Amino acid sequence: MQEEQQSAERLVEKLRTEGNVYSSNVAAALRGVLREKFVPESARDRAYNDVPLDIGEGQTISAPHVVADITELLELKEGQRVLEIGAGSGYHAAVTAEIVGAKNVFTIERLPSLARMARRNLAQAGYDEVTVIVGDGSRGLPDRSPFDRMYLTCAAPDIPEPLLEQLADGGRMVVPVPIDDEIQRLTLVEKRDGRVEQVPYGAVQFVPLVGEHGFEA
Ligand code: SAH
Repeated sequence: MQEEQQSAERLVEKLRTEGNVYSSNVAAALRGVLREKFVPESARDRAYNDVPLDIGEGQTISAPHVVADITELLELKEGQRVLEIGAGSGYHAAVTAEIVGAKNVFTIERLPSLARMARRNLAQAGYDEVTVIVGDGSRGLPDRSPFDRMYLTCAAPDIPEPLLEQLADGGRMVVPVPIDDEIQRLTLVEKRDGRVEQVPYGAVQFVPLVGEHGFEA
């Protein structure tokens, strides 16, 4: 086995032991995507550490345990249409693509330079069918809606209304909702028969969602 594959393997074992990963499809997806392909050259030696890393423009690639938590909460299955808000490096979108299929994944990134980087990283890692869109993800993607699953990798002041509207009935969304200025709670939002239920989970720390239904720049 190659060294990077071994490092990815060790990371998944750690996430299993700590309870972040409990489904076989999530374990396989995290093993399948080499995180080193999504971090800047200067951070390659830390690619398999369970920490967030700088990706430029003041943004970060999420820590693997956070990617694992969101992926588990979403209960992803092959063929589901998924919308991610905050493409960043493209890593999390690649993990999602491993489960649902790359052509079913849409991701919105506000900063054009990061969107370009996400596209490049995704293509190099073999996920060029993921659709990366530059824009304000707080408005969602009405043309391509409804989505079976949605998640935000940035913190919203509240659950953006357009996203709720674009979530399919029976759909799930994971949103980091603020507890205070710095800390958020991962919140699972489920839509059933038009009714919306929210279940709070663990604390996380994301960069802000900047946009019409987010924070001001
Ligand atoms: N999922 C990423 C982590 C991204 S960090 C990864 O795997 O690497 C959060 C990202 O959200 C940043 O790149 C930031 O620019 C982006 N963001 C913030 N507000 C946004 C908005 N309104 N629409 C789309 N992206 C936004």
